[in-house]
Amino acid sequence: MLQKKFAETVKEHYPNAMDAKDTSIHYLGKMQHEHAINISHVLMATSVCSDDINVPSTTFFNVLFGPFIMGGLGGIPFVGQTGMTAFAHHIPDNGSAFIFYGPHIGITLDGELGKMYRPRQDKPGNSCGALMLALSRLEDADYRPIMHDDDYQQMKLEESLLPYRDKIMASDNPQKAITDATYEVIDQKIHEYVKTCKDEFHGDKVTLLGGVIINTEYGVDDFFDARNFEVIDLKSI
Ligand SMILES: [Zn+2]
Repeated sequence: MLQKKFAETVKEHYPNAMDAKDTSIHYLGKMQHEHAINISHVLMATSVCSDDINVPSTTFFNVLFGPFIMGGLGGIPFVGQTGMTAFAHHIPDNGSAFIFYGPHIGITLDGELGKMYRPRQDKPGNSCGALMLALSRLEDADYRPIMHDDDYQQMKLEESLLPYRDKIMASDNPQKAITDATYEVIDQKIHEYVKTCKDEFHGDKVTLLGGVIINTEYGVDDFFDARNFEVIDLKSI
């Protein structure tokens, strides 16, 4: 019942979102039936935020090998080209790659974005915590992250969002807007790394599934708003 109520709330903000279970069935089916991909020989990588709340969303793809974890705070693929190369070398013989990526955002049952009730906590907390922290800092137009080793990922995340600052602040829903901006940052980096590392891949196909993970509550599946599904032929890029 709660799943159904959440589905209605989620769809007010993300009309095309599907629950995580349906997402995995839908896209694995497309890979198999429309692209003749042998699912039993697919290695998965994820580029999602380190947050523990995202783990169940990735386990729906458990039929695949992996995951190779590329994402750090916000879901940015901090492993870079070296990580993409390592992943590319690990693909099974006669197999292919699958990369699931994107930022995440919490939602409460009354539709507040950027918040969620975490397991055994009475008060709602931020989700994504890294993005909501970045948002609070970007409210100051003069804010500039200062790079340092002890908070590297957060500073780089904020730096990559600076070009989107005005758009985020002008939005009716800055929590949603900063999440959408982060999706664009991750999507660009994943495409860039696949391209620069294309000669490293074992096999010639890479399937990308990118979008926004929408976190609900304990016991309710997360939802996923897919923004990009593509099967890249590495020989043609
Ligand atoms: Zn997060």
